[in-house]
Amino acid sequence: MPIHQRRPAKARADVKSSCANTVAAEVEEEPPSQQAATPISLPAEKKIKHKLSIQPSPPDTPTPRRRFKQLYYPAVTERQWNDWRWQIANRVHTLAQLEKVLDLTDRERHAAMGLQTKLPLAITPYFMSLLVGHGSDYALRKTVVPVVDEFVKSVGEDDDPLGEDTQSPVPGLVHRYPDRVLFLTLDFCSTYCRYCTRSRVVGHGRLFFNRRRLENALDYIRRTPTIRDVLLSGGDPLTLGDARLDWLLTQLRQIKHVEIIRIGTKIPAVLPQRVTPQLVKMLRRHHPLWMSLHFTHPDECTTESYRACQRLADAGIPLGSQTVLLKGVNDSVEIMSALMHHLLQMRVRPYYLYQCDPISGSAHFRTPVEKGLEIIRGLRGHTSGYAVPTYVIDAPGGGGKVPLMPEYVMGREDGHVVLKNYEGNLYKYPDCC
Ligand code: SF4
Repeated sequence: MPIHQRRPAKARADVKSSCANTVAAEVEEEPPSQQAATPISLPAEKKIKHKLSIQPSPPDTPTPRRRFKQLYYPAVTERQWNDWRWQIANRVHTLAQLEKVLDLTDRERHAAMGLQTKLPLAITPYFMSLLVGHGSDYALRKTVVPVVDEFVKSVGEDDDPLGEDTQSPVPGLVHRYPDRVLFLTLDFCSTYCRYCTRSRVVGHGRLFFNRRRLENALDYIRRTPTIRDVLLSGGDPLTLGDARLDWLLTQLRQIKHVEIIRIGTKIPAVLPQRVTPQLVKMLRRHHPLWMSLHFTHPDECTTESYRACQRLADAGIPLGSQTVLLKGVNDSVEIMSALMHHLLQMRVRPYYLYQCDPISGSAHFRTPVEKGLEIIRGLRGHTSGYAVPTYVIDAPGGGGKVPLMPEYVMGREDGHVVLKNYEGNLYKYPDCC
């Protein structure tokens, strides 16, 4: 029986009011969720129990994803599977759908039942296919499947720890640094990350791609000539259809003092099918355009993600990556180094490693700061300099990003600076000035 027919009425109503409809309402030109959702059609007892051999590094093949598709979406064609609108329309966003594929723990099940006022659950079928064959301790699963710890607010946590709401001159625009703004285009993402800094906004269906709101934000940028850099974020701007994104980029490009536009997106990791030749053809008309991609773990670097990044890079878009340091997900030198090496091969420059923001219910994701410093120590000098991101803390209250570095300057001695290298050896540099 189709999975959407199995949902109880309450669950169907919840779904209607949540993410899928958000897109239907916002993306009028290309509404993925208005397409008929294709049911997961296998009975529960046919869950994949074996561990699939997903290779984390090239030559990776899409075979495990194909197997997943055959098992859970047998009627779906390759063409549909590779259509980003189909992927969005068929996101896993209910407990019942999640349980069709994963054996949930009690902590996961109770969390999925109680998300009404929290960041919703949504995972693309593509990303779900990466989770099968792994247990509840699997890194990628922790990033997208909720657990009850999300409901526990610890000391020092806040729904808006970076004070973005107090630095917002017009709805959907954050103006913290004099020369750049954060432009929240919509609150929709194809897959919701459980550690999202903007979980107070994202997925709640209140920040629409609404022309009047966007015009207000554009007007603010037009009349503020100090703004030379606009970062489009959200939500995920690449969940907009090509026409809408093209319109917004065109408006921004017509503002003389806007030198560069950046797009922050997790699409290449969770919905690489979105990076179509048509999309990159449109994007390349708006140079100089940069992209900040969001990769968290080496297992996200699949063949499909490689192809998406290749298309973007071939379109001349400089790609950087922002990675959040997450306990039990990527908090080791080995994992981080594997991720950074993948990124370089994907022509993505590791840009920031973020200490996880103290958003409400994030204690289970946060590591001590010393862990981040240990990772940087384990990378710097041990691998290509390009593979070493800048480790930062976004200062709570809106202070901006503060870089953190391990101690390499050990002191001064007789007109010399005493330096420690990556192997721990000491060297003196004559500091004549
Ligand atoms: S993609 Fe970005 S905005 Fe969307 S849930 Fe993940 S971290 Fe938040």
